[in-house]
Amino acid sequence: MVGDLLADQSDTQARMTASDLGLAFSFDSSQILDGLTDGLRIIDRDYTVCFINKAFARLSGVNPESAIGKKCFDIYPSSFCHGPGCRLKKIASNTGCIQEEIERQKPDGTVATCIVSAFPLFAPSGTFCAIVESFCDIMKERQLEREIEQSQVAEDKLKELLEQEVDLRRKLEATLSERAEFIRIIAHELRTPLTAMLAASDILCDGITSEPMQKLAKQVNKGALDLSTRINELFDLAKGEIGMLKLRCQEVFPNRILAGTLAYFAAEAKQAGIKLIPDWPDDLPSAWGDHRRVTEILNNLIGNAIKYTGENGQITVRARSKDNHILFSVEDTGCGIPPEKQSQIFQAHRRLNAQGEKRDGMGLGLALSKMLVELHGGQIWAESEGKGSIFSFTLPLLSNQKDVPLW
Ligand code: ADP
Repeated sequence: MVGDLLADQSDTQARMTASDLGLAFSFDSSQILDGLTDGLRIIDRDYTVCFINKAFARLSGVNPESAIGKKCFDIYPSSFCHGPGCRLKKIASNTGCIQEEIERQKPDGTVATCIVSAFPLFAPSGTFCAIVESFCDIMKERQLEREIEQSQVAEDKLKELLEQEVDLRRKLEATLSERAEFIRIIAHELRTPLTAMLAASDILCDGITSEPMQKLAKQVNKGALDLSTRINELFDLAKGEIGMLKLRCQEVFPNRILAGTLAYFAAEAKQAGIKLIPDWPDDLPSAWGDHRRVTEILNNLIGNAIKYTGENGQITVRARSKDNHILFSVEDTGCGIPPEKQSQIFQAHRRLNAQGEKRDGMGLGLALSKMLVELHGGQIWAESEGKGSIFSFTLPLLSNQKDVPLW
């Protein structure tokens, strides 16, 4: 086909056949050329287009039928046509090969980046007669290069962020360990005199039998005990905030914890004129938890219930096995919690003066209870509709913790 086209030209010097060019086709060579993925164009030395393959037609949008025989600068002009950049001119003058990268707009409007390789064709006589240009679309490679570049930038950014994170973590660890040390020192400084005070007031309570001195000694003892509880809450909360509060989990028996807690509060509730009602089945399954901490949660909820329930009220302490956990709840008939405050009461230092009443307390108990419940993998919440409140929390069942070794 190439030879036929070349032979059709009027210029006698350019009239050649395939065999003149040394090409012996025993099959239709255009099939091969059309099968190439690179665009191919042959232009004779008079700028006449002799051949374009299908890939070139796709790349340029030029119709092969109408392009053959026309001048290359008419059917697919470029900015260097008629100028020193013209490949045909360059090749004709030095008969070498050219390889260059070009950008051309494709028929669909997108810009194609191509590597163009151009080389001369000579007649057997040695006469330069045409150039062959192959257009290799490297858009995908360029795109890939750009993506690699972008991912490299992203990777560098990530590395930078990681370094910053490591730096911040180091600073945070240093701050945390400073805070931990500070907490440890303060705890020691506060607990030491308190322990002595508690021991002394215990002795006074036992030793003094006459009133009103015994009453005073008991008040000192209770005050010291309350102070000790508050200090412990404060330090536990501070430790929890920096991730230093650890549980000692093992198999725990909810019935025993509940019975112990109710016995602990029996006298106080009676004195306050409040009925304490136990409500749980005998066959409650074992749970997974820290006995001391679960007791502390219940103590806090029942203690609050007593504090916020007036005389002749009642407190029901419930427990049920539900799904994969034990559901504990403490229901009182007290003053209740306004709906808008219910989400705040578990935040440290958010103590509400319900209905303007003055109560003692620092607003730490519920925050610490929430921390402890969540460390156990449970949840805690409050419900209150005007009068009375229900505080509930969950504790995972032992059967739900099979993989964790017992301490
Ligand atoms: P506090 O030491 O003040 O009792 P808590 O963290 O235990 O601290 O409780 C936070 C606040 O939640 C209390 O100040 C109170 O306003 C409210 N609250 C807690 N329990 C009850 C309850 N059973 N009934 C009504 N209000 C309650």
